[in-house]
Amino acid sequence: MRTPLIAGNWKMNTLRAGAVALARAVREGAPADGVEVVLCPPFVHLGAVGEVLRGSRVRLGGQDCHEKPEGAFTGSVSAPMLVDAGATDVIVGHSERRHALGEPDALVGFKTRAALDARLAPIVCVGETIEERKAGSSEAVVLRQLDAALAHVRPAEAPRLSLAYEPVWAIGTGVVATPREIVPMHAALRARLDALWGADRAGAIRILYGGSVNAKNADEILALAGVDGALVGGASLTSEGFLAIVEAARKGGASAASRVSRGEGTR
Ligand code: PEP
Repeated sequence: MRTPLIAGNWKMNTLRAGAVALARAVREGAPADGVEVVLCPPFVHLGAVGEVLRGSRVRLGGQDCHEKPEGAFTGSVSAPMLVDAGATDVIVGHSERRHALGEPDALVGFKTRAALDARLAPIVCVGETIEERKAGSSEAVVLRQLDAALAHVRPAEAPRLSLAYEPVWAIGTGVVATPREIVPMHAALRARLDALWGADRAGAIRILYGGSVNAKNADEILALAGVDGALVGGASLTSEGFLAIVEAARKGGASAASRVSRGEGTR
C-alpha cells in the first residue's frame, strides 16, 4: 500500500503574509496520518513557510530546481539551496516550465538527478498537450518524458520518486481528465516503472494525478485505480479547498487499505 500524497503547487501566487497564513491553516488542519502533504510556495517564501511547517507533518517543497548545484545562473535556485531552506521535496518538469519556458525532456532528467543528489524527493511531472492527445500519441509522449526524466536515476533511488500525470490541457483550465483517460495512463506509467526497476522497487513510487483537482472532484479522482494522490494548483490556494482534497485522499487511502486487507485488490 502506498500512502497517498497531496502536493500543493502555489505557482507564482501569494505575498508573504498570505503564504504564512495559508501554511498555518494547512498545518492546523492536516490529518495526523493516512496521507502525506507537501506545500510548494514560491521560492522567496520558502523560509517563512518553512518556519510555519517546522515540527509538523506537512513538508516543504520547491516548485523547480536548477540542474547544477551552484554557479553563474542568474535567477535560478539549486537543489542544495532548497534543502538549506528546509525543503524535502521538489517538483520537476512541470508543464508550465516545459511549455512556457521551453524546458526539454533531457533537462528534466538532469534536474531529477540534481534533486536526488541533494537528497530531495522529486515529484516528476509528465503530460501530453491537447494536440498530442488528439493525434493519439498521449501515451508515447508521456512514456518518452518518463524515460528521459529517469535516465540518470539509480534503481535503489526509485522509492524516493513520485510521478505526477498532468495532462497539459487539464492544468488550470477547469477541465478534468476522465477516468477513462486517467486510469490507462497511470497503468501505463506503472507498467513502465515495473519494467524498469521491478515491481518491488517501483511499487513504492506514487503516481499522482494533476489537472483541475478540487474539493468537488477529489473523491472521485482519488478513488481511481492507480491514483496515489494529487498535485494541486489553483485549489491549493485556499486552506478549505486544499484540506478537503487532503481529506479525500486520506479516506480513499484508508478504504483502499481495507480492500487490500479483505483481499479485494488494490486501488
Ligand atoms: C498544477 O499546477 O500542477 C496543476 C495541476 O494546476 P491546477 O490544479 O490549477 O490545474
